[in-house]
Amino acid sequence: MKFGTKAIHAGVHPDPVTGAIMTPIYQTSTYVQEAPGQHKGYAYARGKNPTRSQLEANLAALENAAYGLCFSSGMGAIDAVIKLLQPGDEVIAGDDLYGGSYRMFTQIYEHLGIRFHFIDLSDLAVVSAHVTEKTRLIWAETPTNPTLRIVDIAALAHVAQKGGFWLAVDNTFASPYLQNPLDWGADIVMHSVTKYLSGHSDVVMGALMTNQESLYARLAFILNSCGANPGPMDSFLVLRGVKTLHLRMKAHGENAAAVAQFLRNHPAVGRVYYPGFSDHPGHAVAAKQMRGFGGMVSFTLQNDSEKAARQLASSLKVFSLAESLGGVESLVGHPASMTHASIPRERRMAAGVVDGLLRLSVGVEDIDDLIDDLKAGLDGLAG
Ligand SMILES: *Cc1c(COP(=O)(O)O)cnc(C)c1O
Repeated sequence: MKFGTKAIHAGVHPDPVTGAIMTPIYQTSTYVQEAPGQHKGYAYARGKNPTRSQLEANLAALENAAYGLCFSSGMGAIDAVIKLLQPGDEVIAGDDLYGGSYRMFTQIYEHLGIRFHFIDLSDLAVVSAHVTEKTRLIWAETPTNPTLRIVDIAALAHVAQKGGFWLAVDNTFASPYLQNPLDWGADIVMHSVTKYLSGHSDVVMGALMTNQESLYARLAFILNSCGANPGPMDSFLVLRGVKTLHLRMKAHGENAAAVAQFLRNHPAVGRVYYPGFSDHPGHAVAAKQMRGFGGMVSFTLQNDSEKAARQLASSLKVFSLAESLGGVESLVGHPASMTHASIPRERRMAAGVVDGLLRLSVGVEDIDDLIDDLKAGLDGLAG
């Protein structure tokens, strides 16, 4: 089955009782047993819920995975992966991670004895130099947030396989429509389902996919034991949203390419970060491992002016000033004060997240309105 057909049909089936074509919302906490311990595979809804099960099967299919698990948030999913580790274990992670991931690693798990190395994962020599006999995991994002750097998943998978540890990839920015990390040798793929998979800015959810039965069993055990499970209503909303993932991603990609080109040509703009540009340092790797360049564009204004960036972010009319990304509506964010505020300024600056950087989640509105909005905002700065 091809991607668009899977988005609509994989994992779901008409309700056996009524024929309802849409997966019912099984709003229940428990299930009646015929005899003690004798049930239909569902005992208590923290462990399993039929609405969630169908979503998990659907999302697994989109990542070409044998197994999928849904969590109450993206952070809940990441938390489950780190709970595979023990005190003394080491993790090699990217140096421009999602701010919440950095916060969890440094402020929760470093206190519990896990050691994190934050490095540039696109430099394989640096990666190899940080491998020790205690390394258990590489945690990668690509494209990265918000500077859209690209790391070579197959190359990292090779390092992980050689060292006998796992590679997990946060695939939130690409979505499974554009990139399938398991196909390039990753062990675990993670999504903030909140973003493109849900697509409508109305749900917070996370997911993990893997092809390894033993990893799946351990992660399912953690999910049931620790309780970061999503509810059936949210599962229903994501099942509904994901049916148009392929249509939305196509539109996000086309609009983002046009926005990136427009920004690059505007005199008030400084640097534009977009992996679709042929002179982007990660372009060749992106073209190899992705089927398109996604819906995210970041940029600075002339002289990296923070004042101009803040003024522009507040003046746009079609782009809403908000955290998050991946919904149908266009958003503008100021990472230094919003998504990346929990990262120390020095570390932030070193990763290119300067105070004047703006990040766009380009939505699926008509492109002319998006360009007009940006043009009005940028032209207004001159005055
Ligand atoms: C939003 C996001 C997360 C966290 O997911 P939540 O659903 O907000 O908990 C993790 N990684 C990336 C890249 C994200 O954009």
